[in-house]
Amino acid sequence: MSDAKQTKIDLGNLKAGGFIKERGKDLFTVRLRVPGGRMSVSRLKKIAQVAEKYGGEFVHLSVRQSIELINVNYKNFDFVVEELGEAAQKVASCGARVRVPVACGGCEYNPNGLVDSQKSALEVDEKLFGTTTGHHKFKVAFAGCPFDCPKSATNDIGFQGAIYPQLDMQACISCGLCAKSCVPKAIVTGEDNKPVFSDAPCIWCGDCVKVCPTSAWSEARRGYTVRIGGKWGRNPLVGTLFATFLPEDKVVDFIADVLEWYKLKAEGLGRIRLGDTIIKEGPQALLDHLRIRFPEFTVAETIAPQVIATQVGK
Ligand code: SF4
Ligand code: SF4
Ligand code: SF4
Repeated sequence: MSDAKQTKIDLGNLKAGGFIKERGKDLFTVRLRVPGGRMSVSRLKKIAQVAEKYGGEFVHLSVRQSIELINVNYKNFDFVVEELGEAAQKVASCGARVRVPVACGGCEYNPNGLVDSQKSALEVDEKLFGTTTGHHKFKVAFAGCPFDCPKSATNDIGFQGAIYPQLDMQACISCGLCAKSCVPKAIVTGEDNKPVFSDAPCIWCGDCVKVCPTSAWSEARRGYTVRIGGKWGRNPLVGTLFATFLPEDKVVDFIADVLEWYKLKAEGLGRIRLGDTIIKEGPQALLDHLRIRFPEFTVAETIAPQVIATQVGK
């Protein structure tokens, strides 16, 4: 490797934060861009080669599904980027911008999955990754169902797959399976062993639809529930419900609409996250904004993001 190439540091990339300074002199962690945590085996092999050549004895798997190369000397940045590029592997980014979305496996192979959370994560990564917010980081997560394994509600925007069930009583054979499988007891067994549905406890998991042997239960609506304003860190918040049954093909536009509101309302407030901006403005302000473009999916009312008490007694 030539000296000229060794000393050519990409300051733009450094600033974007995919290269994170470590304790050791001249050493950095290189965070890789892995939307949805999905990684082809061939790309994984290439990453292992690059890590072996330029990094330490191990890699780190971040809590947001990134692979991080450890102990990389800054003099090798260009080589690392170039060689990762041979497998189309890119470096991630930090700072006040849209981060790499995380996602569970979704409906492709997970039996609980109701939507293609992997496809959504890839689409958001492709169209919105790196978009500057002007204020703070912006995290997005996709869960295939209301179990919410990726803890989507602690992201700035969290999506969970959902199904709203409908019942054709004529097709029911009174087997009782739906009531047994409905953990929140939104379905109980009534007269003649027929199911009785209550809307309020239903978490839109779709288990009744899956278990019914005669297809008496079917889906009336399918899409994402959307919780907004979550974050982790020193002062965590859980995002609250702003939209229901948002179709998968409207996800990117919806996030862009939230970003537009955030950029505007956080102006002059310094380094403030979306959740704190919603608390300051009131959730109705964001609901009103979203209702203009997404009237059929925006909920009628909601509450502000909820504080999680992590410092008990203070
Ligand atoms: S959130 Fe649902 S679909 Fe995703 S991993 Fe968990 S159980 Fe499976
Ligand atoms: S699972 Fe289907 S057939 Fe069985 S009780 Fe429920 S609705 Fe009726
Ligand atoms: S969608 Fe889930 S919670 Fe709602 S009625 Fe069906 S099984 Fe019960």
